[in-house]
This record gives sequence, structure tokens and C-alpha cells, in this order.
Amino acid sequence: MKKWVYSFGDGITEGNAGMRDLLGGKGANLAEMSSIGLPVPPGFTISTEVCTYYYDNERKYPSSLEDDVRLAISRIEKETGLSFADPENPLLLSVRSGARASMPGMMDTVLNLGLNPDVVAGLARSTGDKRFAWDSYRRFIQMFGDVVLEVDHGLFEDALENMKDARGFIDDVDLSGDDLEELVGEYLAIVEQETGAAFPTDPMDQLWGAISAVFGSWMNSRAITYRRLNNIPAEWGTAVNVQSMVFGNMGDDCATGVAFTRNPSTGENVFYGEFLVNAQGEDVVAGIRTPRNLTKAERLESGNDQLSMEEQMPEVYTHLAEVRSLLETHYKDMQDLEFTIQKGKLYMLQTRSGKRTAQAALRMAVEMAEEGLISREEAIMRIDANSLDQLLHPTLDQEAEKTLLTRGLPASPGASSGEVVLTADRAEELAAAGRNVILVRLETSPEDIHGMHAATGILTARGGMTSHAAVVARGMGRSCVCGASEVRIDSNEGTVYIGPAELKEGDLITLDGGTGEVFQGEVPTIMPELSGAFGTLITWADEVRRLGIRANAETPMDARTAREFGAEGIGLSRTEHMFFDADRIVAMREMIMATDTEGRKIALAKLLPMQRDDFAELFRIMAGLPVTIRLLDPPLHEFLPHSNDELEEVAKAAGVSIRMARERAIKLNETNPMLGHRGCRLAITYPEICAMQARAIFEAANLVQKEGGQPVMAEIMVPLAATAREVELCRQIIDRTAQSVEKETGVSVEYMVGTMIELPRSCLVADEIASEAAFFSFGTNDLTQTALGISRDDAGQFLREYAEADIYPTDPFISIDKEGVGALVRIGVEKGKATRPDIKLGICGEHGGDPASIDFCEEVGLDYVSCSPYRVPVARLAAAQAAIRIKSGA
Ligand code: ADP
Ligand code: MG
Ligand code: MG
Repeated sequence: MKKWVYSFGDGITEGNAGMRDLLGGKGANLAEMSSIGLPVPPGFTISTEVCTYYYDNERKYPSSLEDDVRLAISRIEKETGLSFADPENPLLLSVRSGARASMPGMMDTVLNLGLNPDVVAGLARSTGDKRFAWDSYRRFIQMFGDVVLEVDHGLFEDALENMKDARGFIDDVDLSGDDLEELVGEYLAIVEQETGAAFPTDPMDQLWGAISAVFGSWMNSRAITYRRLNNIPAEWGTAVNVQSMVFGNMGDDCATGVAFTRNPSTGENVFYGEFLVNAQGEDVVAGIRTPRNLTKAERLESGNDQLSMEEQMPEVYTHLAEVRSLLETHYKDMQDLEFTIQKGKLYMLQTRSGKRTAQAALRMAVEMAEEGLISREEAIMRIDANSLDQLLHPTLDQEAEKTLLTRGLPASPGASSGEVVLTADRAEELAAAGRNVILVRLETSPEDIHGMHAATGILTARGGMTSHAAVVARGMGRSCVCGASEVRIDSNEGTVYIGPAELKEGDLITLDGGTGEVFQGEVPTIMPELSGAFGTLITWADEVRRLGIRANAETPMDARTAREFGAEGIGLSRTEHMFFDADRIVAMREMIMATDTEGRKIALAKLLPMQRDDFAELFRIMAGLPVTIRLLDPPLHEFLPHSNDELEEVAKAAGVSIRMARERAIKLNETNPMLGHRGCRLAITYPEICAMQARAIFEAANLVQKEGGQPVMAEIMVPLAATAREVELCRQIIDRTAQSVEKETGVSVEYMVGTMIELPRSCLVADEIASEAAFFSFGTNDLTQTALGISRDDAGQFLREYAEADIYPTDPFISIDKEGVGALVRIGVEKGKATRPDIKLGICGEHGGDPASIDFCEEVGLDYVSCSPYRVPVARLAAAQAAIRIKSGA
């Protein structure tokens, strides 16, 4: 015969914490607490398998269930010496739902079940406390009426309020036994009127009504929606916990409360909680009266003038404090407890792993490891690597007053305030004068980069989470709210309209990039506190990780940030970003406009010293750490002039007519630039561009080494190669340039030539490519675009529906698509190693900072990941977690 019911309580416990799937979280932990000797009122759990059975069999129960429940009740009766449905010595029950994962949509708890007119009279007699008996009864009718009979609970609350008003009372506890008896009469009348039937008096009927209501609530629309949003399968089912009642409402030596074994918002190792004297159930959470503090220290700190439990009930408090440490030692984690005190005796009603802020999680993990409660590796595994993001950016002062203007997408975390500016140039200008600015644009494009850099925050009216603004802002660590569709920009007037607000350049606004909110004026922010715990945990992570961590950086500021956050090199320096500066773009455009090699060489000669300076600065900052520099990658037309004025300026600089310049621009225009004339295709057709960049790198390296800096480790990366021959041709240009520079200067520079693997073909022929490339860096942004045939810039239109339809459950541009793109990476790694066993393997692009993708990188055995500077700490932790996971074979 199958077992459907599991008892718990002193000496009768059949379950344990490991049986969560079968008993639900609450049931499993009640059994566990009972088995380690904590005072848990006896009861039983009807398993989740009954729920599954119930729905598989047209809402019928297994035939043996009724007998099982009777038997389990008789065990409670034996334990407690009370008897269910017996007026002389009544046992009352609580009925509670409890799924595997905590589920807000489920039925609320019913307390004091088993009362009827006879039993309530008996209870009043046996306890000698009429007030308590009728208080329990009115609570039962209200809860059962609400959650089982579905009577609007407002009707009960109104009746209670009316009675208190009539008597001139404020608190429920002031009502006498007679008052409550009268109230019960009204409650019963309400039920009869609303349901057309009398309130059930048979305790067994009441029990089955409550049990069926719990199982029924598994399929209510609230629960279904919650499961869908949280990916909880319907097959899991819920359990039902039936437990003997203990009473916190029997007088002033009784209470009910909730507690955390450590402070859940700061993580501090102090006992933390609230309780109410002479109260029951959810009175504490419901805010019926102001709860009191558990400890004296907390009371003093919060300025509460009512005595704490530590002061008022010192003996029970001592017991509770013992339970606190026992539970922490047992569960090795911060617990969230629910308890009740009946006549000075403590009972435990629930324990579970407590929710906590990111800050608290860090502090607890580190302190628990230092206390010897958990190992360092466990501490590392406890932290959600993504949550570190919150800690690395300024946040809004929660206390501050603020006026919300609108809401967009939370594109890049961090809070920032500044003056509204409408153009990138203006942003740069004001920032140079030391002002904080928020760049407000319809959307951003590569030409806005300098302004985005200068701004403290970016707000766009259009675009999704992977729009240009979002990706670039995350990369730069700027806060960003994008796709705020209520934002209208009138650039002629220089006005931004957000709802009723009309903002002029210079007006202050505040963004919260973590929530997508936009506020009027300047809201004070709090700087991230990289507390001791953060530093400690990340050092532990560094000790166990195998993957190297590099950053994607091209500006000195990014490179410095990267090093501060612990980057071990630069994995991707995009040289084209260096050409968008106002003073350079003209020379760049001149180069593009040139129709012959000679013309290009003249323009390139102007760019050479600028590139050299850029690289020299990067080499200085990275002080001997490897620096990967990618040759010019984007289609040339991205640099083209837009306005007539710009066209004129370029034509003049290039010494050509406007007409020629315009023709050239038209010629460069492409139908599908992402797959067009870009990447190494530029270096192959315009070798002089590649030669100039190589020369700038070698001359810069020479310069820095001459200054006495560490020997430079330059890794020159050929973008978008699909064949070995492309890499070979580029390498030849680079090698030749290296030789000339060495001949000119007499100094040799250490360098490597490698390639970015970002096309399916390059993965498939990686063995051939490896004969020409000393390293591979998987460019998984473009590899995802080309493998899936999805343009990242256009994916916003349909990716959400794709996620909902379970086609790509997670955004493949955020977390690597392991089955498809991942398989290509695996092939690339295997083939690359087959030709060149010591080939250096890395990844750059958005995936390099994503914990799930980093786990994959560890699995396939890459040497390093490279991510945006602000993600470096996240990557360090995620790399350690991946190493631990794989070592443990999980
Ligand atoms: P939730 O899942 O909403 O926390 P619970 O099942 O824990 O619901 O019940 C809510 C509250 O009801 C508990 O915190 C406790 O105060 C009270 N309660 C539950 N079972 C009992 C019981 N056997 N005796 C006394 N109070 C109980
Ligand atoms: Mg509840
Ligand atoms: Mg609870």
C-alpha cells in the first residue's frame, strides 16, 4: 500500500528536510525540526503525490487516504492528550499549504479548525478562558469563511470594526468573551447569508473542506500565473500540513512572532525579529498592532518604547535564542522562523532559508565561512554572481523623496543624476567642464559614443535591452534607461517632454538603471560599499578559479577601471572606437573618401600618431599584462559624414569635389553591412590600413618599453576571418611591419597574431586557421548572429515571443546558446588544439560577463573570458563557481 501521509512530532516523525519534493518545503522542515528535538506541535503532511493523484483522477482521493488521515489524527491525540471533535478536551488543528517552492498563489492557512458551538463551550470550560475560546472561534470562522467558503473577508472585518467602534475600543484584544460570542453570531449569519448554507459544524467535514481547498488552490488562476512566471511545473503539486494548534492568544504570557537568525538586510550576525503578545497567526504580518522587537539592542536602535521579548520574557527568549543557533548550525544557513508562545512555552511553526539582500548574502557567506560553519567553497557557491552587479554601482538613497517621471527598461544598473543634454557633443563639452550630464536621445548610434562616455547616465526613448544604448552603457558601466516611450524629444526647441514635465537642457533628472525609473531633479545616491566581505570573497574566488579574466576596454578610463576590478589583461580593444572622436573622424573620413592607395596613405599618416598614443596609454596602464588589439572591424560607411556640412569638410580635407565625395559615400553604402565589406576583408583590400595599425602598435610598444615600462604583451587580432588564408595574409602584413619597425628602432617587440572566431565556417575549419593563428578569441556576439541567422539589432521584435514559446528560453545574446553556438565553439576548440596544442583560447563579447556562459567556457576549457570592466568581479566569482561545480562533478 502506498504511503500518502507522513506524521511529525516528538517520536512519531517520518519525514526529513531531504523530502522536500514529497512533503513540500514547510512539511519537510517541520519534520526536520521535530527530528532534531525542537518543540514542534505534532501533526502530519499529506504528500504532493496526493495532489497529483487528485488531479489525475477527477478530483478524487486515493481510497486509503481517509483511514490514513484518521490514523495520523489519533497519533496527534496520543501525543497531546487531546481529542479531535471532543467538547470535553478538544484538539484543534491548523491546515496549511506547502509546495516545494514557496508559492504566494496558494491557499492561506486556516487556524483553530475543529470548533463548533459545543466544542467552543468545552474549550471555554477546560481552559477557564471564555475570551480565548471565542476569539479562536471567530478567527476560525473568518479564515475558513474566507479561504474555503470564499466569503468576502471584508464583511467579517466590517463586523469586527463596527463592534469595536460601538464599544469604543481600538484593539481587538480589548473585546471581552461576551463581545466575541456576539461577534461569532454575526459571523455565522454572514456565512449563511453569503453561501446559502449553515457554517459546517462537523469537525471532520471542516477538515476535509480545508484539505480540498488547499489542493483546489493549486489550480487557481493566481497559482497558475505564478507557476508560469517562475517556471514551476504543475506536476510538482502541493502538500497539505495538518498540525495541532498552539495558542498565542491565551493571555499576556502568550505571543506569536517571526525572526531571522541574522539581519536579512545587512547580513550582520544578530538575532532579528518581531513579535506580538496575546496574538495569533498572521497578526504580526498583517499589521493589526505594532509589533515589538525581539532584542533589547534592536528596540533601542529603533526607538520602540514597548519592551522587547528579551526584556519581557527573558526565559522564553533564551530558549528561542538557543533554537536560533541550533538551527543555524544544523542548516548552515540563515533561517527565517515562525514561532508561537503558549503560556510561556515556545513552539516552532516554520523554518526556511531566509531571503536576503545581495549585500547581506555576501556578508553572511564570508562570516559563516570564517566561523567555520561552511567551507570557503560553499561560501563562494552561495552568492548569485549576477547580484554583485547591484553592489558595484551607486544606488538611489531609499529614504530620499522623489518624483517619478516615467519608466523605461532597466538597461544598465546604477543610479545617476545630471543635467539633461540632447547631443553627444554637448555632453562632452559640459562633462569636460566638470558637470554631470544625462544624455537623452531618441536612440543612440556609434557616433554618440564620446557623449555616452562623458555622460553619467543615458536615457533613450526607443530600443530594447540589446539596443546600442543598452549594450554600450553596460559595457561602459553607465546607468541607462532605454525604450522609455513616454519621452518625447524636440531637438529644434531643445526640449524633452516626459508626461506633463517639460525639461530644458540643463534641468536635472535622475535615472535608476536597475529599475528603469526616471525621476525629476537630483535624487541623492549612495556609493557602492565594497565592504570587507566583498574583497574577502573575491580573493577566495581567485584562489579556486582556473579561467583568466580580462576586460574589453579601449579607453584609458575603462582600462583603469578594469584593473581596479582585477582584470588580468585586455581581451578586446576595439580600435574603431578610437576613431569617433571629433578631431579624428575627419582624418578617418578622409581615408575612407580616398579613392586610391596614395590618398589613403596620406590620411592614414595623420591617424598613425593618434593610434600610437592610444595604444601606448593602454600598454602603460596594463603594465605588461596581455593586451588584445583588434584590427579595424566595422563597415567603413559607419564613419561616413551625414550632413552636407560634414561632407564638405571631408571633401576639402581630402582635396576632392563634393560630388566625388558624395559618389564615394553612395558607393560605400551596403545592403547588409553586417555581412558586408568589414572585418579582415578591409585589411585584405586595403592592406595599408592594417599596416598603419600594426605600426602604431609596435611603435607604441617600443615607446613604452623605452620609458622603462614592463615588456609589452601585444596580441593582434584579425576580425571576421572565415579562412586560414585571410589570417595568413593579414599576418604577413603584420610580420613585415614588425620587421621594419624593428629595423628602424633596433628594438624587438613580443607579439602574437591570432583571430577572432565569429563565423560558423571558422569553427569548422579551425584546424586550418590554427596553423596561421596563435590564439582564438570566440566573438560570440557575431557568432550567435551568424549561427542563428538573427540580427541582434532586430531581434527585439520577436525574441520575447520566442522565449515565451520556449524556442530560445533565454536570450541567446545574453546567455550563450549551448546547443548551437556552444557546439560550434566546441568544434573550434577541438580543431584548434589539434593543430596547435598550446593555442590560447578566450571569449570576448557580452557572453564573457554572463555567469551561465562563463560556466560553459570553463567546461570547454577556454583559457580566459573577457567582459566589460564592470562585469570583471562578476566574472571572477562566476569562474570560481564554474571550477567548483565541475570539480565536484555536479
Ligand atoms: P505562510 O506560508 O503564509 O507562512 P503558514 O502556514 O506558515 O503560512 O501559517 C501562517 C501562520 O499561522 C504561522 O506563522 C503561525 O503563526 C500560524 N500557525 C500555523 N500553524 C499553526 C499552529 N499549529 N499553531 C499555531 N499557529 C499556527
Ligand atoms: Mg500566508
Ligand atoms: Mg509561514
